[in-house]
Amino acid sequence: MSAVDALVEYAVGHELIQPEDRVWALNALLEVLQLDANPEELEAGGSELHEILNALIDDAAARGLLDGDSIVARDLFDTALMGRLTPLPREVHARFTGLYAEDPVAATDWYYRFSQETNYIRRDRMAKDVAWQSETDYGTLDTTINLAKPEKDPRAIAAARNLPAAGYPQCLLCMENEGYAGRINHPARQNHRTVPVTINGSPWFIQYSPYVYYNEHSIVFNAQHTPMKIDRAAFAKLLDFVGLFPHYFVGSNADLPIVGGSILAHDHFQGGHFEFAMERAPIEREVTLAGFEDITAGVVRWPMSVLRLRHASAERLVDAAETVLAAWRGYTDEAAFVFAETDGEPHNTITPIARRRGTDFELDLVLRNNITTEEHPMGLYHPHAELHHIKKENIGLIEVMGLAVLPARLKEELAAVADALVSGADLRANPLTESHAEWAEAFAAEVTAENAMSVIEREVGEVFAKVLEHAGVYARTPKGQAAFDRFIASIR
Ligand SMILES: [Zn+2]
Repeated sequence: MSAVDALVEYAVGHELIQPEDRVWALNALLEVLQLDANPEELEAGGSELHEILNALIDDAAARGLLDGDSIVARDLFDTALMGRLTPLPREVHARFTGLYAEDPVAATDWYYRFSQETNYIRRDRMAKDVAWQSETDYGTLDTTINLAKPEKDPRAIAAARNLPAAGYPQCLLCMENEGYAGRINHPARQNHRTVPVTINGSPWFIQYSPYVYYNEHSIVFNAQHTPMKIDRAAFAKLLDFVGLFPHYFVGSNADLPIVGGSILAHDHFQGGHFEFAMERAPIEREVTLAGFEDITAGVVRWPMSVLRLRHASAERLVDAAETVLAAWRGYTDEAAFVFAETDGEPHNTITPIARRRGTDFELDLVLRNNITTEEHPMGLYHPHAELHHIKKENIGLIEVMGLAVLPARLKEELAAVADALVSGADLRANPLTESHAEWAEAFAAEVTAENAMSVIEREVGEVFAKVLEHAGVYARTPKGQAAFDRFIASIR
């Protein structure tokens, strides 16, 4: 069987197309491959999708069809192939809606599998990710070193530099990505299909993240390219979403730089079918919110400053959350170094997370503040310099909930630290291990050839717990928690 036939059979086998579509699909692929006939001699390197695609890309590259042979050029090409085999949006919507009517879990299960079978989520890259758990004072924290997001290829960066700014699609989250062919500086999305959802009366869409930081990592995004905004409507949308998908959590990044996510220009949430450590963390002291005595409220036992609200009525929680947000936006407590604004620049915002707790609705409001100081120019409530060898990026929604997403460089660096500790090599003499030297020397004595990686993973977990403590506005000390209680008492 030729590689082209193998791809057609893959699509039939995974119900992307129907058996009667075979001839049409073969011809559609030949068009992308710029071939006049089925190349019988071109065999697939194996039965896995990425093996079939690799055979086709290698052949196309050898015939000069690719713009260079970078990962970016290869991804553009194999996505064009998969796009020819991906059902139209209307078919995807109909299938999802039909399954949803029976069971929301069946609908998302199908859609998640579909997003992998079209190769929009690249399973072979997901398999390369490194993940582990560590026990800390705050329970079992998760860590992932995500390798699915390809490192920028210098050749692709050079090629993209010479292109004019396109402005279409306006960003990576825009609806206009669905079916888009992509360019050297924008990923191809011919195989990408979204699902519409109405929340708080406004049109939004669901998609999965192509990089899958955790199970069923979904992105819920506004139909309009409009900036992130935490307000009453955002709370209502989050709670509406978990009303529609009770098995998913959903949260939003905050709407200010430093404490927000990487895309502030397009309003979006992230959700999924995954239990984060924060969800398991209990309320450590109950509190009463003035005017909302019927709502169960409390401070969560967590390194960041989290107020948890629970009630059977989503509307009631929206009212309470709006009141907390308004109080926090305007709150200053100089003794606790909390300033609502300096020189007209606002600092206080919230990272909200919604979920169901049985039949109740639950909303975690994580207090954030993005003030910078001379000593901490990247942010006072941000990982401090001594932790930057592990994490210096923004502490966004996913980290807030207890999953450390670490940069790809750490896979190699942590392995080098393990080797050096076992062999007794000088950590400061190697550029891969130099930044980790002071940290690693503190636990070097207990490292053996057998336990090296597990000790390092445990210690990374400890660093991550400290990262979250730094990001917390109120320190987990009696003084810090008393200041937290002052804020709660001020909410009206
Ligand atoms: Zn956009």
